[in-house]
Amino acid sequence: MDKVIVITGASSGIGEATAKLLASTGNKIVLGARREERLKQIVSDIEKTNGESVYQVTDVTSVDSVKMLAKKAIEAYGRIDVWLNNAGVMPHSALIKGRVSDWDEMIDVNIKGVLYGINATLATMRQQKYGHIINIASVAGHHVGTDTAVYSATKHAVLAISDGLRQEEATAKSGVRVTVISPGAIETELIDHITDVDSKNRIDGFYHQFQISPSRIANAIKYAIDVPADTGINEIIIRPSDQVV
Ligand code: NDP
Repeated sequence: MDKVIVITGASSGIGEATAKLLASTGNKIVLGARREERLKQIVSDIEKTNGESVYQVTDVTSVDSVKMLAKKAIEAYGRIDVWLNNAGVMPHSALIKGRVSDWDEMIDVNIKGVLYGINATLATMRQQKYGHIINIASVAGHHVGTDTAVYSATKHAVLAISDGLRQEEATAKSGVRVTVISPGAIETELIDHITDVDSKNRIDGFYHQFQISPSRIANAIKYAIDVPADTGINEIIIRPSDQVV
C-alpha cells in the first residue's frame, strides 16, 4: 500500500471511516473538511494506531481552499496517489418550498466541490503518470424520488462528470483511474442536517429501517484502490440488502 490519499469530507461518516481504514493499512492520509476539532481528533486516533495523517481545514465550495488541500498533500508527502471527493450535503425538501439556499449549497458542495477537487489534483496526477480519482455519488444518482430532485440532480452530475473524466483519461493514456461509488442508506450524520420537517420525518423513517455502517463503503473504496493499476473499478453501487430504491 503506502499511497498518499486525500479525502474531502473526512471529519465524519464515510470520509472518517475510510480515512481510518486506509491509514490502518499503511497509507498516508490527508484529511480535508471544515470542522478543525474533528479533524484533529481523527489525526490523533490514527496516530494511536501507528498510522500517518495530516489535515487541512478545507471548504470545498472554495476553489482556492481545495487547492490548499492539494498543496498540503504535496508539502507533507510529495505526491497525490488517490483523491477522494467525498464531501456532500443532502438538505432534502419539496421544490414548492423554494429553499433556494439549500439548493445552492447542494450544487456548490456536491457538484462544484467535486470539480474543484479534480481541478486541484489532475495536473499533478498527469505529471506523475499515475493517480486515482474517486467520487462519491449515490443511488440518488440513478433515480429520483419525492423531495430529492436537487440532491438527485447533483448526484446525476457526479456520475456524468466521473464518466467524462474516465473517458478523457483513458483516451490520454494518462495512468489516471476514475471510480464512482454510489451508496444507499448509510448510517452517518448526513440526515441530521435536513431542516425541512416533512422531509426529515420521512427520511428518518426510511433510514432507520435498514441503514448500514459506513465501514461497508470504506471497504469498497479500499477494494477499488487495491486492484492492479491496469484495472479500473469504474462504479460500485452498494445498498442495504433490503433497500428497494
Ligand atoms: P456526513 O454528514 O457524515 O459527512 C459529510 C462530510 O462532508 C463531512 O465531513 C462534512 O464536514 C463534509 N462537508 C460538508 N460540506 C462541506 C464543505 N463545504 N467543505 C468541506 N467539507 C464539507 O455524511 P456522509 O458520510 O454520509 O457523506 C459523505 C458522502 O456520501 C456525501 O457525498 C453524501 O452525499 C454521500 N452519500 C451518503 C449516503 C448516506 O446514506 N449517508 C448515501 C449516498 C451518498 P464538515 O462539516 O466538517 O465540513
